[in-house]
Amino acid sequence: MCGIIACIADDRAAPILLEGLKRVEYRGYDSAGVATIGRDGILVKKDVGKIAQIEARQKLSLLDGRIGVAHTRWATHGGVTKRNAHPHTSCNELVAIAHNGIIKNYLKLKKELELKGHKFKSETDSEVIAHLLEEEYKRLRNPTRATASAARKLEGQYAFVALFQGRGDLLTGARNDAPLLVGLSERKRFLASDVLAFIEHTDRVIFMDNLEVVTVTDKDVRISDLSGKEVRKEVTQIAWELADVSKLDYAHYTLKEIEEQPSTLHRALIQEEEKLASFVEVLKSSDSVFLTGAGSSFHAALVLKHRLNIEARIRADAVVAGEFASQSHFMNRNSTVVAISQSGETADVLEAVKVARSKGARVLSIVNAVGSSLVSAGDHALHLNCGPEVGVAATKSFTAQLAIIGLVLDSLTGKETSLNGESLARRVKETLAVRERARALAKRYRHRPDFYFIGRSVHYPIALEGALKLKELSYIHAEGMPASELKHGTLALIEEGTPVVVLNPGDETYDDTLSNAHELKARGAEVIGITDRANKLYTHTISVPHVAESVMPILEVIPLQFLAYYTALERKNNPDYPRNLAKSVTVK
Ligand code: GLU
Repeated sequence: MCGIIACIADDRAAPILLEGLKRVEYRGYDSAGVATIGRDGILVKKDVGKIAQIEARQKLSLLDGRIGVAHTRWATHGGVTKRNAHPHTSCNELVAIAHNGIIKNYLKLKKELELKGHKFKSETDSEVIAHLLEEEYKRLRNPTRATASAARKLEGQYAFVALFQGRGDLLTGARNDAPLLVGLSERKRFLASDVLAFIEHTDRVIFMDNLEVVTVTDKDVRISDLSGKEVRKEVTQIAWELADVSKLDYAHYTLKEIEEQPSTLHRALIQEEEKLASFVEVLKSSDSVFLTGAGSSFHAALVLKHRLNIEARIRADAVVAGEFASQSHFMNRNSTVVAISQSGETADVLEAVKVARSKGARVLSIVNAVGSSLVSAGDHALHLNCGPEVGVAATKSFTAQLAIIGLVLDSLTGKETSLNGESLARRVKETLAVRERARALAKRYRHRPDFYFIGRSVHYPIALEGALKLKELSYIHAEGMPASELKHGTLALIEEGTPVVVLNPGDETYDDTLSNAHELKARGAEVIGITDRANKLYTHTISVPHVAESVMPILEVIPLQFLAYYTALERKNNPDYPRNLAKSVTVK
């Protein structure tokens, strides 16, 4: 969670940092701040609110100095206050830091530091890093060694960047279980939690690994392990087209990301044959298969489970990443875990992978972010290729995951592929025409307190996804469930006018789901049918094109994305920045 961007510039750093902050604002946005080294020492400006508001009030961009660090926060420890906003400084402003993650042993460290006379200004866990660094710097007189020594004392998850008073020539940083990367341009150097923070300036990147320390100067980048031993790293060139983060003419990133699905799905289907074959080979040769993910990616895992079970006759269990440890007893060297994630940095997913690794299991991943921790943690990765997803609610990454699942299934079963990039793109484009219908429904139901979504078999995870989108963007209570489950309890909540979205394409689930729609209608529900086979029963019908059964989940989720987006607008919510949430949940 949270975005960090730091840079050494050839001119004033603050405007560059502010631009970078805006690009990573989607990672956390309750407060933000910038620290630079000016002529008279470390300067800090920070506040609560969105970056544009803070800039208007505090003029972050006017800070002096050509070196600095900036942070946009997603609070974990301590309320959303100006004091708790990052960067944090040590007692006499000898050090300033920005931190992403959670320091588990911060209370113990804080006590020790207080005994040495340190005075804390915030309630955050992060502030201990600043004081600890000050201690180590005073002792060792060397920023790199001080950073390594401080990092050795920290437990938990961190990516942090530090500035040292009187050292206007360098930045240091360290990471463990939170992303940190170095960007190298001709005249500027960057440290950031996300390539988007500096992609305007350079596409040359060094990905840091866990328990590594970096020191960046004008001339040099040095990376070492925590014992000080230098580590050689490769510079990776990131594809520019994968980093397109402009909103173009769209009102919101979320809308743009929904609408660009014809092309992102087309791209997702372009996978290297060899990579796909190795991925599938591992699945075929495993005695047991476990699938995991969080949020929408977990819903994709459920689709994969269903399809592996039914179509490939491979038994697979899907478990949400945060609960994955319970599966460890059943895992061994012949097991495979498929981990699905947009960012490849989701802490719960990385933890699940660690558990799997400790049992000797193989790890496959389906992930969007190239060079992310999940990619390095696994044996084989398939990339979504859908470009950066800025909207907090997953849209194009979810459908890209479904498309890749389709490729994997086709390859496993040896079936003639049902997924042709061009024809899929065409179908998706046709489906986008449901926009106005979804918009009208959003208007009609904007004041309803509850929404339900039902579907059977592979459509059940899509019902879960529809409910999640609506909760995230509109803040309306919503539940997704198997259509069969309604009568076992939830039907009691249905009253006159309750909207229920029924995913009911004309496949073998059609008749049973239609019966459930009848039961709902009889109890006063307003039934919204999403289907390629219309029926008079539905109060409203959203028609989607007729496609192969396995492709239908990709199409039927699109009206649900629009419904959530437009309901957010109707309720005056900003769909790109839902309250309390952040993209890429890098804390447990
Ligand atoms: N744990 C830190 C805090 O609450 C950092 C949170 C973040 O990653 O934004 O301030």
